[in-house]
Amino acid sequence: MIQVKGVSKSFGANQVLRDISFDVKEGEVVVLVGPSGSGKSTLLRCINFLEEFQAGQILVDGSAVGYDGGPSGPGRRRQSEGSIAQLRTKAGMVFQNYNLFPHKTALENVMMGPVQVNGESKAEARAHALTLLEKVGLQERAHHFPLQLSGGQQQRVAIARALAMRPKVMLFDEVTSALDPELVEEVLKTLRDLSTEGMTMIIVTHEMQFARDVADRLLFFYQGAIIEDGPPAEFFANPKTERFQAFVRRFQ
Ligand code: ATP
Ligand code: MG
Repeated sequence: MIQVKGVSKSFGANQVLRDISFDVKEGEVVVLVGPSGSGKSTLLRCINFLEEFQAGQILVDGSAVGYDGGPSGPGRRRQSEGSIAQLRTKAGMVFQNYNLFPHKTALENVMMGPVQVNGESKAEARAHALTLLEKVGLQERAHHFPLQLSGGQQQRVAIARALAMRPKVMLFDEVTSALDPELVEEVLKTLRDLSTEGMTMIIVTHEMQFARDVADRLLFFYQGAIIEDGPPAEFFANPKTERFQAFVRRFQ
């Protein structure tokens, strides 16, 4: 479903991603962990082409992300804005700061994208939005405004809003790190439910127990490279690198 092949990215002289390659199969949950500044967010942003990258190729559901003409060389050129916008509807992204529209209700926040971008009728978008709000446990809160909701509830609205675009994959970047500790679990439960339903996901998180539970595969990022890649049980029982051992000790 997602293929990342030899992706490298620099901000000026600072190389942030170094020849990153991995695949995510349909229905697979891949969790990225690693120290601050190791390039996790940058990679997620490249998959949705919120960042350009200088070399390599990313395919989502078989379509090249951002560039046509191969991974590098003179034939490589940026796609049209229309193609890029089309791609972004395939990969739904949720960030740490949920950025709901404050003057719109939960329901209106979830309906907006499908109506304005996907051209769904209001009736269809509304019915789908209500189903999604129910799925994230917020059917009672559909007509509340963001400020009338807790952080965990707002984050669940943000997840419903991303799902409303009917994405093929979901990308989550530290969606619980801005929340009070008692609100973390309700958001993680939403992610667990999505994984049970077979949604393909890439999740960046510092919640190690959650990562162990939900990941089909863990990738450990270090200074812009993937230095460990495997099923979590194996990963924790038998870490190949001292860097991962040191990283995990901080969470125990
Ligand atoms: P964290 O766990 O703190 O979120 P991260 O692994 O997500 O860290 P990134 O945010 O991807 O790390 O950052 C990787 C590197 O890229 C860092 O050195 C950062 O300073 C740099 N960087 C990120 N965004 C930009 C930008 N827009 N311009 C310049 N440098 C950037
Ligand atoms: Mg980050």
